[in-house]
Amino acid sequence: MSRRKKIYEGKAKILYEGPEPGTIVQHFKDDATAFNNQKKATLEGKGVLNNRISEFIMEHLNRMGVPTHFIKRLNMREQLVREVEIIPLEVVVRNVAAGSIATRFGLPEGEPLPRSIVEFYFKDDALQDPLVSEEHITAFNWATTQELDDMIALALRINDFVSGLFAGAGIRLIDFKVEFGRLYDQNDMSRIVLADEISPDSCRLWDMTTNEKMDKDRFRRDLGNVTEAYAEVARRLGIMREADQNRDTEEA
Ligand code: UDP
Repeated sequence: MSRRKKIYEGKAKILYEGPEPGTIVQHFKDDATAFNNQKKATLEGKGVLNNRISEFIMEHLNRMGVPTHFIKRLNMREQLVREVEIIPLEVVVRNVAAGSIATRFGLPEGEPLPRSIVEFYFKDDALQDPLVSEEHITAFNWATTQELDDMIALALRINDFVSGLFAGAGIRLIDFKVEFGRLYDQNDMSRIVLADEISPDSCRLWDMTTNEKMDKDRFRRDLGNVTEAYAEVARRLGIMREADQNRDTEEA
């Protein structure tokens, strides 16, 4: 096997230099972390599932005209993506109160919000990803006003589309986190595209009828059967059987 250049290793993913300039290989690990790295585990098969689920969602978004970094899946754990300059923000869209918004405002978990809410968190582990306002973002030059408008518009389009996709599978999209990047063209002009991943690691997904959690909260809250829940999400989206058939393409 040839040695590839590792560009970055995060908590759940590794980025390698891609085969052509401007491309990157995104590798999904089985590692899970929560509470700013205080809780760690390896969940066998999680990376494979997240690779498939994120591929499925990004492909649909690309087809709908929502620009993403996704090019194609390479194997069970890896996908080819466009190299982008990541904007140092976690963009969270919420439909129903859960997690930090429930704690912050004393809302009961599961209470629908009056409307979908977009929030920004500054990506900085040492600061524990603080909630920031649009004023902070433009004043500190993390993004321009135009980029902010684009991110909000894209986040809401993604929310509408992905909510519908999951609703069709009997799953409620409670909230999710996305990251955006700048994709540069030959003239050094940039546009905002969806980057990173959309998977049960980055979404809250509740069964529509039982409210059972089918996402990373199973790990955060020690509810057990984490990968089983992710596999059920994949199965309901109709992507599980194909995943089995392609197992032989996995890299050693
Ligand atoms: N989220 C994420 N990565 C983070 C923080 C949050 O993917 O570092 C996702 C989380 O899975 C949920 C949404 O963003 O779907 C909102 O998370 P919240 O602010 O409630 O964070 P929590 O308090 O659960 O960490």
